[in-house]
Amino acid sequence: LWVMIKVASLTKRYGEIEALRRVEFDVASGDIVGLLGPNGAGKSTTIRCLTGFFHPDEGEITVDGLNVLERPSEVQARVGYLPENTPLYSDMTVQGYLRMIADLRGVPESEKLALISGAVFATGLDQRLTQPIGQLSKGFRQRVGIAQAILHRPRLLILDEPTIGLDPTQVVEIRNLIKSLASHSTILFSSHILSEVEAVCDRVIILINGEVKADARLEELAQSQDATLVLQENVEGVEKNLLSLSGVNQVVPLRTSEGYAEFRVVGESKFDLCPAVFDVVRREGWSLRELRRDVRTLETVFTELVNSA
Ligand code: ATP
Repeated sequence: LWVMIKVASLTKRYGEIEALRRVEFDVASGDIVGLLGPNGAGKSTTIRCLTGFFHPDEGEITVDGLNVLERPSEVQARVGYLPENTPLYSDMTVQGYLRMIADLRGVPESEKLALISGAVFATGLDQRLTQPIGQLSKGFRQRVGIAQAILHRPRLLILDEPTIGLDPTQVVEIRNLIKSLASHSTILFSSHILSEVEAVCDRVIILINGEVKADARLEELAQSQDATLVLQENVEGVEKNLLSLSGVNQVVPLRTSEGYAEFRVVGESKFDLCPAVFDVVRREGWSLRELRRDVRTLETVFTELVNSA
């Protein structure tokens, strides 16, 4: 698997403030990765270092195998970037603006039309070409920002808070747009909206106070070490029997009613307790109704990380 982004020991200070502390992560080619974190976590700083906009104090970043500081123009040719506040020129029409961007990026005249129309169709701007950018809704302005980012068909797309300030319908549209762009590019985008990251990403990197606190596929992160056990009747000795298993920390009786007794089995390590719990159920001859590994939402994981930071 090709590594599209490699960030090694990235540290960035603003005077006394250490905005990033030895941040490390890789992004594989073709992934959609969400960079998630509360306000001030360092998301924008990370992105600005990735795009070569800021020089890190320490550490190294490569994009598509190229060192960002040593080969900035080659990196820029491979990266499409939507900044937090895209500088759009409100008096310009959509097509005028995109032509200007194509010129700035040195797109040869012969390719200009194909590239501009590609970006326009991908972002659904074909009906707005002659409209001044200042007259567009915020969602459409954001599309113009994305269109300029994908214009030169970059291998990597970096989007800083792409849905900030949009209404719920526009948010859904932009999310779908991001997903569709993933067929051509690797995508890294920042967000502080959990549901957004959950809806769009394969992987999430959680940044808190300038440090990476989690880096995992969504399904991995959602797995918990706890299990839920439901029996057909409340029998004696459930807690005692399960607590004798190694890896079980706690057994919490949750609900009991006719034909139903539910327990949470809390584990201490990250492995699945279900097989061992099932062995006990069988050995003791309990009548099983349900046994499952609990799944946590990204929100639970995120809240735990923020609270423990
Ligand atoms: P938000 O979600 O609010 O945009 P963020 O995760 O993008 O936050 P950054 O903007 O990267 O966070 O900021 C990280 C830290 O660095 C914060 O403490 C911020 O105050 C500080 N910071 C950011 N830019 C500057 C700057 N130009 N000068 C001084 N401090 C800065």
